Amino acid sequence: MIKFGLLGWPITHSRSPQIHSLALKLAGLQGAYELFPIEPERKAELAAMIKKVREGQITGLNVTIPYKQEVMPFLDALSPNAKNIGAVNTITFKNGKVTGHNTDAPGFEADLANNGLELSYKPGEAVVFGAGGAARAVFYAFLNNGWQIHAFVRNVEKSKQVVADLRGKGLPGGMKLYGLADLSHTLKRNKIDVIVDTTPLGMAPHIDSSSWPSNVKFPVNCLVYDLVYNPENTLLMKQATAAGLRASNGWGMLVEQALLSFEIWTNVKINRADFNAAWQQTTHTP
Ligand code: NAP
Repeated sequence: MIKFGLLGWPITHSRSPQIHSLALKLAGLQGAYELFPIEPERKAELAAMIKKVREGQITGLNVTIPYKQEVMPFLDALSPNAKNIGAVNTITFKNGKVTGHNTDAPGFEADLANNGLELSYKPGEAVVFGAGGAARAVFYAFLNNGWQIHAFVRNVEKSKQVVADLRGKGLPGGMKLYGLADLSHTLKRNKIDVIVDTTPLGMAPHIDSSSWPSNVKFPVNCLVYDLVYNPENTLLMKQATAAGLRASNGWGMLVEQALLSFEIWTNVKINRADFNAAWQQTTHTP
């Protein structure tokens, strides 16, 4: 029987077991997806979990915070995405090697496409809030497609390393880092195509917070994408739609990255429309 799982902490609220159980059902495969919560004090157990993948006791693992980088020394190989992003969210054993992949970046890119924005069609300019773990994948997706990023963070000094790491990869796009106070000025000088929020602002229970300052006008004709998906309609999305813009939460990214991991483990590509229809029938919340 196929066995998948998720390594991380805390992960009790993860939706991955439901997403993968539905994927298994749609693929007609027998299997199970388990949560493997590992408290930071017990992180020495990561090596034993990865050994289980090598020995075939576990078919594949997902990895989430705080271990996306910590698992890397235990792996035999990295996909180009994982290597460039510097983080692993999917582990598999193929051709004698335990390999780390990153499906967050292609998952993000796929969901922007679902929202009508094909990054590979034409390079443009993006405003991104935050520079943490999820932001690395978002930055990579833009840079790899030749986009210019204006990244806004509350602590510029702390975020310089992420930018330096990605700049060092020789990717075609470009990136500038700003403090939050520079937003209005930057919007006046650049034509922004998409705004992405990678911070946890607006996530339940703090639903009244948003990265977008209420006194700043949105650029015209841009897509606003919030990685948060709980609540379904975040404050940032409400601000954007009130300004006449299209807005999306990050649920589609979560599903896309999960189904890309599923494909790596099983070689089965789940039809997205079938998945969404089946998901609606089982539950109505993201
Ligand atoms: P993370 O590594 O902790 O990074 C969070 C980032 O947000 C950091 O840059 C942090 O700045 C910034 N930030 C935090 N609180 C802030 C505040 N009050 N004001 C301004 N900036 C703030 O977290 P992560 O793993 O990147 O996750 C971020 C969010 O994305 C979470 O809500 C997570 O659920 C969501 N997410 C969604 C998906 C998806 O598939 N949709 C995937 C991954 C993550 P400092 O460095 O200064 O603390």
